[in-house]
Amino acid sequence: MKIAIIGSGISGLSTAFYLSKFSDVTIFEKNKKFGGHANTYDFNFGNKDIPVDCGFIVYNKKNYPNFIKILDYLDVPNDSSDMSFAMSVDKDFEYSGSLIGMLANYKNLLDKNYHKMIYDIFRFFKLSPKYLKKVDDDCTLNEFLNRFDFSNHFNKYHIIPMASAIWSSPEKEILRFPVKSLFDFL
Ligand SMILES: Cc1cc2nc3c(=O)[nH]c(=O)nc-3n(C[C@H](O)[C@H](O)[C@H](O)COP(=O)(O)OP(=O)(O)OC[C@H]3O[C@@H](n4cnc5c(N)ncnc54)[C@H](O)[C@@H]3O)c2cc1C
Repeated sequence: MKIAIIGSGISGLSTAFYLSKFSDVTIFEKNKKFGGHANTYDFNFGNKDIPVDCGFIVYNKKNYPNFIKILDYLDVPNDSSDMSFAMSVDKDFEYSGSLIGMLANYKNLLDKNYHKMIYDIFRFFKLSPKYLKKVDDDCTLNEFLNRFDFSNHFNKYHIIPMASAIWSSPEKEILRFPVKSLFDFL
């Protein structure tokens, strides 16, 4: 039996890998590279090439049982890592997601907008389960932020860049993202 697989993302490659034990498999890929959304770039830093994953980044034991099985089968090693967030706007406005990082720029401490942003970070992560009960399933992030009156600083310098980074998406697209899915992930 001959099998054709269209697309060489993780689905196509793992299916091909499994079925090739029993049949002839041909993969058709429209791009010039294999991997689909999984994409690793080599960046030259000093004299070293550093492979950096973009797109397919998040990986944990709880949510990836099958992926872990295939990595184990292929004897791919893994290591723990943290996930952190930092924001810098023209070096005038910057902070990172730790207590010391939040206080890194002393000018922030005098900025009312910054206070409001911190207040909204707590509000967003603490009160959103309550807010989510009040919105439809297809409510977008944009509608949610407007409806519950989140501040401009929170939107512009926290939730939009953070969600854009996680989903590798531009601002316009992330604002259209369904807010309930965003919370499921967070
Ligand atoms: C922005 C973003 C961020 C994500 N981040 C993560 C993450 O951090 N961790 C995680 O686990 N998952 C993440 N995902 C999800 C993950 O990337 C996808 O679930 C996974 O890559 C899907 O794999 P796939 O093989 O189904 O599709 P894809 O990886 O999209 O592969 C499909 C392949 O098919 C090819 N193709 C399509 N049509 C044709 C055609 N007609 N002929 C030939 N070839 C064709 C495409 O070129 C592509 O190579 C993310 C997804 C997105 C969109």
